[in-house]
Amino acid sequence: MKQAPIPYGRQSISEADIQAVVDVLRSDWLTQGPSIEAFEQAVAQYCGAKYAVAVNSATSALHIACLAAELGEGDTLWTTPNTFVASANCGLYCGAGVDFVDIDPKTYNLSATELEKKLAKAKAEGKLPKVVVPVHFSGQPCEMDRIAELSREYGFSVIEDASHAIGGKYKGEAIGGCRFSDMTVFSFHPVKIITTAEGGMVLTNRKDLYDRLIRLRSHGITRDPAFMEWESDGPWYYQQIELGFNYRITDLQAALGLSQMTRLDEFVASRHRLAARYDELLAQLPVVTPYQHADSYSGLHLYVIRLKLDEISKSHREVFEALRARGILVNLHYIPVHTQPYYRRLGFKPGDFPESERYYAEAISLPMFSSLTDEQQDRVVAALKETLS
Ligand SMILES: *Cc1c(COP(=O)(O)O)cnc(C)c1O
Repeated sequence: MKQAPIPYGRQSISEADIQAVVDVLRSDWLTQGPSIEAFEQAVAQYCGAKYAVAVNSATSALHIACLAAELGEGDTLWTTPNTFVASANCGLYCGAGVDFVDIDPKTYNLSATELEKKLAKAKAEGKLPKVVVPVHFSGQPCEMDRIAELSREYGFSVIEDASHAIGGKYKGEAIGGCRFSDMTVFSFHPVKIITTAEGGMVLTNRKDLYDRLIRLRSHGITRDPAFMEWESDGPWYYQQIELGFNYRITDLQAALGLSQMTRLDEFVASRHRLAARYDELLAQLPVVTPYQHADSYSGLHLYVIRLKLDEISKSHREVFEALRARGILVNLHYIPVHTQPYYRRLGFKPGDFPESERYYAEAISLPMFSSLTDEQQDRVVAALKETLS
């Protein structure tokens, strides 16, 4: 019998999750109901943040977070090239420019050292960024203490793209607590650590940002007389006081997310168990296994290996294709954003961020999800051994 292919990531849905969604279907509220606030409170409480705003994707979350940070025309957003395009596109949505900071060769995160150098240069040229978006790649947090210090020195806002990182910790504290940032964004896409099918969230400790995020999520409309420009006409009344969007999440999704939250620690623990098992099983192969910083407990969204190509007779592409042919649906995170056609048209070119390009030429994401079985993992390792021999 031919074995089913093994994806690189997938959701884990329990009967309790299904029941939670069905319960909402039978209730009065399919959207704009009580499940959304319950989900927001659960995540905020878990992370130790004061406020949370759930939206229909992390892409939307990044967009309204940038707007709340007052990013606009004439401003610049900096992020890492080793990310999904959404971490950079959010700057362009606001009419701002985008630039990148190359990665740390060990963690593959935006390098705080490179950031410091680039800031000193930008200051001399009068081109400092308004917003920096560090991405906690694979779930491992960036060096947030250094980034926060630089944000105070150079006066930019920090939006953590923690799409990979819910359930992880930085220096013993949950990612999402925003101790070192203005806002933190999570994604709940099915390949991420918990899911709402599509969905995202912004967390913050600042009431002013929270109030704006709530408005931007829903057309820029307020029903709170405190924000109205003149007195309310009556109980039906609302005012649109800025231009917002319909980025709302549904109650069906929020109920799924709330139910998933009860298993978040379990999900991350099983990812850690699997990563430790990979580390051991791959130790003798010509690959670099993921480095784990001592300061961090990664969410382990991804398990990325780098091929030691000088010890392997196949090319990166041949190894990738051979694994896919064996039903191991490996992936590659990420194509450096600045090399995308759209970004080349903005003036970027290959060679601009060499560390991220070197990484891209060697990286492969192996299957990693909480319900991956030891037997499936053994198949991944066997296929890799065969391919590399
Ligand atoms: C998945 C992801 C996003 C976008 O998330 P969506 O919820 O699909 O919009 C943004 N940034 C990073 C780093 C991601 O991995």
